[in-house]
Amino acid sequence: MSNTRASACDALVIGGGPAGAALGIALAQSGRAVKLLEQSPTAHNKVCGEFLSHEAIGYLESLRVSPRALGAVAIRGVRLHAHTRIATCELPFPALSLTRRALDEALLHAARREGVTVLRGQRVEGLTRTSDGWQARVVAGAVHAARDAFLATGKQDLSGYRRPTGKQNNLVGFKMYFRLAAAQLEALKGWVELFLFPGGYAGLQMVEGGQANLCLLVTREQFARCGGAWTALLEHMLQSSPPLRVWMDGAEPVLDRPLAVSSIPYGLLPAETTDGLWRLGDQAAVIPSFSGDGMSMALHSALLAAMMLARGATPAEFARVMRAQFQDSIQLATTVSRMLVSAPVVAQAARMWPGLLGRIAARTRVPTNALLTAHPLLRHNGAGLDG
Ligand SMILES: Cc1cc2nc3c(=O)[nH]c(=O)nc-3n(C[C@H](O)[C@H](O)[C@H](O)COP(=O)(O)OP(=O)(O)OC[C@H]3O[C@@H](n4cnc5c(N)ncnc54)[C@H](O)[C@@H]3O)c2cc1C
Repeated sequence: MSNTRASACDALVIGGGPAGAALGIALAQSGRAVKLLEQSPTAHNKVCGEFLSHEAIGYLESLRVSPRALGAVAIRGVRLHAHTRIATCELPFPALSLTRRALDEALLHAARREGVTVLRGQRVEGLTRTSDGWQARVVAGAVHAARDAFLATGKQDLSGYRRPTGKQNNLVGFKMYFRLAAAQLEALKGWVELFLFPGGYAGLQMVEGGQANLCLLVTREQFARCGGAWTALLEHMLQSSPPLRVWMDGAEPVLDRPLAVSSIPYGLLPAETTDGLWRLGDQAAVIPSFSGDGMSMALHSALLAAMMLARGATPAEFARVMRAQFQDSIQLATTVSRMLVSAPVVAQAARMWPGLLGRIAARTRVPTNALLTAHPLLRHNGAGLDG
């Protein structure tokens, strides 16, 4: 295989999910020559609950990507079901629901618009440090060079850059779109239905186009007890959760088979780094999915990294600030996620104390004004950025 050396640029972004695309946009806006390498050749579905928090919406709008213009539907509350018990909570912030297929594509489109060189169908298989920066080698053999490199490969680890396992790492994630019967679809409008079942939890919410997204997490052990089969897992959930059975009555799957993801390092916090590589989004930190805050953290990490790079900070300083901002919310969310999987008393507690869901939601978010409040943290962590 012959290696083709591509021209060097200021910044190389590996991965074109929310973190990579947002970073590309921010760096291009500050005048940097950015190349973004994304393995998928075209728009595609991703395992995700597709809940866009208030903070994520704000970040997207600041990048001139409007979820509403893309057809996002409004979400105003969560209904938590454990067997037949139900707890209801209006969200303390407005939220939306939008397919990742639409969102991620719109972000990459916005990156191109801002001048980022977006290369699709480019799977990076190796990343090495050189005397004057970084080199990434893609599967087809081309080599791309840059002064700074940003790892934003999300759920997938790059060879040689494996993340630690996290604090809750025995879950498998699935996602399937369904066409619901008209009455169910009407009743679902505006709500995330969260169902607890032995060994896992599932969220159902409407997305654009009149479809519903059923996204769930289940322990590997429980999935094995279902014979490792999606149909048996679905039956297990329906048997354990009568409300879910009501929702799914007459539902028709839209995809040939569900999308799946495993080895998710939930609870991962930004670690001390010395290798000079910027790690963004899920490569930096992973908050349990029920919080619906993964995308806003990914977007935040990108904008924070761009801001810190512009002020001369290092990846190590960036990781320290990220850790200071997110360790409390990630630790709380991981504790709750463990309880959701193993002790459905959470639903009973939420029913007895109706404010609980709202409090958990409020305490697992990207802190308000986190980009602005990062400034004192930069100084505290020795980034020397008084300007
Ligand atoms: C089951 C589940 C449900 C979730 N639900 C929600 C939710 O409702 N709301 C929410 O906000 N968050 C949710 N999340 C979290 C959210 O999906 C992530 O936090 C978010 O996608 C992280 O963005 P990212 O850009 O870091 O990574 P990703 O979105 O994973 O993007 C990474 C990109 O890198 C590309 N890539 C990977 N490897 C390579 C390579 N070697 N070379 C080139 N390109 C590569 C991939 O194709 C991908 O496009 C959920 C996660 C899971 C697992």
